[in-house]
Amino acid sequence: MKRIAILGSTGSIGTQALEVIEANPDSFELEVITAHSNADLLIAQALAFKPNAVVIANEDLYDKVRDALQHEDIKVYAGANALNSVVEMGTVDMVLTAMVGYAGLQPTIRAIQAGKEIALANKETLVVAGQLITELAREKGVNIYPVDSEHSAIFQCLAGEFHNPIEKIILTASGGPFRGRSAAELQQVTKAQALKHPNWDMGAKITIDSASLMNKGLEVIEAKWLFGLRNDQIEVVVHPQSIIHSLVQFEDGSIKAQLGLPDMKLPIQYAMGYPNRLKSSFPRFNFLDYPQLTFEQPDLNTFRNLQLAFNAMEQGGNMPCILNAANEVAVSSFLRDEVGFLEMSDIIESCMAKVAYIANPSLEDYVNTDREARLRSTELVKR
Ligand code: NDP
Ligand code: MG
Repeated sequence: MKRIAILGSTGSIGTQALEVIEANPDSFELEVITAHSNADLLIAQALAFKPNAVVIANEDLYDKVRDALQHEDIKVYAGANALNSVVEMGTVDMVLTAMVGYAGLQPTIRAIQAGKEIALANKETLVVAGQLITELAREKGVNIYPVDSEHSAIFQCLAGEFHNPIEKIILTASGGPFRGRSAAELQQVTKAQALKHPNWDMGAKITIDSASLMNKGLEVIEAKWLFGLRNDQIEVVVHPQSIIHSLVQFEDGSIKAQLGLPDMKLPIQYAMGYPNRLKSSFPRFNFLDYPQLTFEQPDLNTFRNLQLAFNAMEQGGNMPCILNAANEVAVSSFLRDEVGFLEMSDIIESCMAKVAYIANPSLEDYVNTDREARLRSTELVKR
């Protein structure tokens, strides 16, 4: 029985993780759930699952959550600091980091410091501070299990192969809703179009990142740290059907792939249940429904965010942190109709050129870099 804390239980990954827990009562127990602003859903989840503790990060909503749960034996906390504390609770075995963005960094660090296993959905954490996080995890003997479907695929391909060196990995990308479009066409695209992903139903931020291919760029950096790879060992191929979730090539030239219908519940369950494959009733894949699986080069000239992410990884240091902060500002500005789709890349590129580079950042450097990059990119939005 694993006792789970879910950071971001009200989101796309969080709600699917709750479905996995509900379907596997003999394997998982829910200890903690947290949300930012969706107090109604957090309350409903708390009443249904009776966790030990809940956190509402938005402190203005504390009274509402506390009042709604006053007759339950559930501790209610509020604020960002409470997120850092609940992950340390003695009754928690594993923390599923399913909150979005840089906000996941501090609680993930605290969970690792407390020796908790991590099921990592919050890829921004590894993009911002991959070196620091992976070194800390090694020092504490903590395993980080990937939830991202591509990284789960690679992890699944590596089962039984951990002593065999990887030659390279190939991350698949759907290409998003704008695959094949020219830069001129992208000039005109709307928020509503960008929010319509062909294969996956996800939170707004990652859906925009998927449309701009920044999601794949973040995943390249995430993979580097998760699997300890050199930059030249990571490739991206566009695979519009999203059936092959990613591939590993070994030193004898053999390639292993993991396949399945696009459904995040499988990688969530694999991360939480590792090393076991729990029986599930997820829909099964049928090859005859997909007579063609196709592959293309990503278009790095049109989808500049992917190139910018490769550049940031190449430069290392705090550059991926700058990229991430600028991207978070750019995406939320795009979602507020303040900038166009292509302007997001302009903001990120300018910000990468403006914020001071630090080759070997400390945690404090990351915090300062994130703050400065947000200020700079917000100025760029207003221009
Ligand atoms: P959602 O936007 O659907 O959910 C985000 C969750 O985080 C919500 O519970 C939200 O609370 C909470 N949250 C947001 N901001 C804060 C904050 N500042 N402090 C505390 N909690 C916060 O995102 P997704 O579920 O789509 O994605 C979560 C993470 O998983 C991301 O890093 C994403 O890249 C990654 N991921 C997602 C996939 C997917 O299929 N969705 C696939 C692979 C990776 P509330 O809603 O209450 O405001
Ligand atoms: Mg992914």
